[in-house]
Amino acid sequence: MKPPFQTINADPGPQAPAKIRGRLKSPLQGVAIALFLASAAQAAPVPDPARFAPCLAELKPDAQGRGVSGAAFDRLTASLVPDMKVLELLDYQPEFRTAIWDYLSALVDDERVADGRAMQAQWSEVLAAVSARYRVDPATVVAVWGVESNFGRNFGARPLLTSLSTLSCYGRRQAYFRGEFFDALKIVDSGDVKAEQLTGSWAGAFGHTQFMPSTFLRLAVDFDGDGRRDLVGSVPDALASTANFLKKAGWREGEPWGYEVRLPSGFDASNAGRRNKQPLASWSARGITRIDGSPLGGGDAPAGLMLPAGPRGPAFLVFRNFDAIYGYNAAESYALAIAHLADRLKGGQPFATPWPTDDPGLSRVERRELQTLLIARGHAIGTVDGMLGDASRAAIRAEQQRLGQTVDGRAGQKLLTALRGPR
Ligand code: CA
Repeated sequence: MKPPFQTINADPGPQAPAKIRGRLKSPLQGVAIALFLASAAQAAPVPDPARFAPCLAELKPDAQGRGVSGAAFDRLTASLVPDMKVLELLDYQPEFRTAIWDYLSALVDDERVADGRAMQAQWSEVLAAVSARYRVDPATVVAVWGVESNFGRNFGARPLLTSLSTLSCYGRRQAYFRGEFFDALKIVDSGDVKAEQLTGSWAGAFGHTQFMPSTFLRLAVDFDGDGRRDLVGSVPDALASTANFLKKAGWREGEPWGYEVRLPSGFDASNAGRRNKQPLASWSARGITRIDGSPLGGGDAPAGLMLPAGPRGPAFLVFRNFDAIYGYNAAESYALAIAHLADRLKGGQPFATPWPTDDPGLSRVERRELQTLLIARGHAIGTVDGMLGDASRAAIRAEQQRLGQTVDGRAGQKLLTALRGPR
């Protein structure tokens, strides 16, 4: 399981790490909230670059204890220089927290469905072989690929050995990152991935499927038969490794992840929750139906009722396979994005129940249009990439102020519509 760090391919998710969640005054369910969190900067000691070399020397015996040869350690660390920027990213707390409808509107948009279908066609033989070997739904594998790296277009550009060695010697999670650093050294030393190709997120997730090094060592497979497990250069290896992950996480072939349901009016939602699994018959008895009104059917398959935006938003019954997806990246919003994208790739429709908002989120096409409009109004927000970072958020706040809208830094349909109008 990946730590719940920000994924490189999406805005910060609606479910923040517990450390951040603990700062909130109330649960976030169903409410789009822009929270302006106090800065985490609490007189942390200034990282001293001169401590890096002695730190590496101290790490060497531990690395050897974890199976890295002394010669490999010396060779692979000789030219490393710490990158203090990753320490800022470690402690970064987004001031904007994303509502579930904004998170999903960018991760599962028509563009990603079209791209995913093109990939399904291009890699159909490999996907058929992968699903035959691992007994995992191929559309779910493609959905993971699309969300993790936008089908191989966005791996993250930070050299892993640099990031992980820095995080091993400075900052607040050194013990965790040392394990990942040693595993990354093993990956390079084994010849599976070359050091110069081993780039990724600041936290060390890399390749088409954004595995952490420890996950790679446990679960990556050589599917194209060239003798290397290569999640950077080989799509077949990446797809098969994802399938292997889902299988090991408990995927059951032929079973759904879940589906959207309809709640009866006045439904008491106090039993909701992914983990609170109850037999389908029990949910049926409480008046829940399929979204089209047809009965759930009886049966004792355990299902949890998930209400990601509270009882007035879309409702889902989720089964064991949803938990397998959750294992990939521990956030329910993430798992819902994968599950929904997989359904869309198979011809499924968008959710029938609207999100409880009068200002829906933006697809990536719309985000790029918004960024173009912001630049045209003189805001220096960098590249038009559909990813809304702090600069875009600041520009959005300025425009919201000017337009007399709520100043929350959020990009929604109302703002886009207003900016499309005459200046
Ligand atoms: Ca291979």
